Amino acid sequence: MSKVDRASTNKLLPHDTYELILRDLAEISYDEGLCLNLYNEPTSDKSLLLNRIRRARELLPAARIYFSSNGDYLDRDYVRELISAGLSELYISIHAPAGKPYDDAYAATRFNDLSRRLQKAIKIDILRPGETMQGHVNIEKLPIHVFATNYYTLGSNRAESVGLSSGAFSRSAPCSRPFNDFTVSYDGTLFPCCQMFVDFAEHTQRYAIGKLTDFPTIFAAYASQAMAEWRKELLRYGPKLSPCATCTEGQHEGTPEQIATREKVYSEFLGPSQVVSSPSAGGSWLGGIRRWRVARRSK
Ligand code: SF4
Repeated sequence: MSKVDRASTNKLLPHDTYELILRDLAEISYDEGLCLNLYNEPTSDKSLLLNRIRRARELLPAARIYFSSNGDYLDRDYVRELISAGLSELYISIHAPAGKPYDDAYAATRFNDLSRRLQKAIKIDILRPGETMQGHVNIEKLPIHVFATNYYTLGSNRAESVGLSSGAFSRSAPCSRPFNDFTVSYDGTLFPCCQMFVDFAEHTQRYAIGKLTDFPTIFAAYASQAMAEWRKELLRYGPKLSPCATCTEGQHEGTPEQIATREKVYSEFLGPSQVVSSPSAGGSWLGGIRRWRVARRSK
């Protein structure tokens, strides 16, 4: 269960921060994904959401604008408004009731209820009893992906903030998140991936890259020393530092070819491979980020 209160107050990403991001992306005619949620329910404030989608579509005509929702507020008319605002894709995550375990029957009931509100049947693509139910529906060409997941067995520990037992698990796989993602919290705090969130003090103290306003552009933030350190750490197969050491997100065993390819890229761009200290020895990002912060302050 979450240790963070996300319900008693409603804090919004300021308009100016959103504009900074969109304007930087517009400079490069950005045509990749723009995700509008991060541990919140975007559909709870309809006019704000529609305005933000419209503005993003105006400045980024080629971007894939999408978000994840719990689906509670959605119906056919709401989806139509999202489409006309410029939404590209929608993900609906069906959750078990607070404090209750995953339940196939409950998930099926919620799928049916959502189908009724969307006025269209959701086609079930994957059904693994006790684990997951996944489907899709298109409304006026808007792809909507619907899924219910047993997070007790398939979830990750959210950068060690959630008490999911990973046993003796120790991650060896690379991770593409700090390469592909740029995660901005509602107050402008930046993280290397969306597993970390700003209201969890330990995450902010240990893993925040800084605030968006610390950098002249989002590209400078992406290319910062701190972000480069995360990418360097996560490029290769091998032991990882905390919190990645116990993160199951995208974990897989590499084939000899995959491992060799990563080693080649690493040595080409970063020089001879360096072995990461054992995570069990308490290695974490804290030391590296602190050194980086001191270096930044002294400039
Ligand atoms: S391994 Fe997990 S915690 Fe680390 S960057 Fe990737 S997704 Fe985030």
